[in-house]
Amino acid sequence: MSSAKLDRSGVLVTCPSCGKTNRLRYATLASAARCGACQARLTAPAEPVEVSDAAAFDAVIASSSLPVVVDFWAPWCGPCRMMAPELDKVAKGAAGEWVILKVNTDAVPELGDRFRIRSIPTLAIFQGGREIHRAAGARSAADIRALVDKNVAVHAS
Ligand SMILES: [Zn+2]
Repeated sequence: MSSAKLDRSGVLVTCPSCGKTNRLRYATLASAARCGACQARLTAPAEPVEVSDAAAFDAVIASSSLPVVVDFWAPWCGPCRMMAPELDKVAKGAAGEWVILKVNTDAVPELGDRFRIRSIPTLAIFQGGREIHRAAGARSAADIRALVDKNVAVHAS
């Protein structure tokens, strides 16, 4: 599971060089950042970040300068568990390009209800504060990548 955490203003990441926790603000996620302690280069998380509360989720969606890909999942869902390693692979390649969030609909039921998630896994893509696409069902890393690339490109302006 991801070591990165979310709060209301940014993603908290651990510096790979000195181990200090740094906050990458959502609004500037697309720009390069440096560790406040040792000046090592920091990048947006290269792994899916688990969402623990709706307020943090809303903050990311509202202010992220990068497109946000959300995986609605639950621990008891077999296809979700099958897709998890695929999503990890995608996240490694998409660091600094998109943010990938995981919403456990059992842990944060408010979000599953609000977005009327009827089946899991469901991938939803957000850009500029709104949902631009969603797709239900498990996918391979290549298919996830293609799905996001296509939809983000269509909505970029
Ligand atoms: Zn550091």
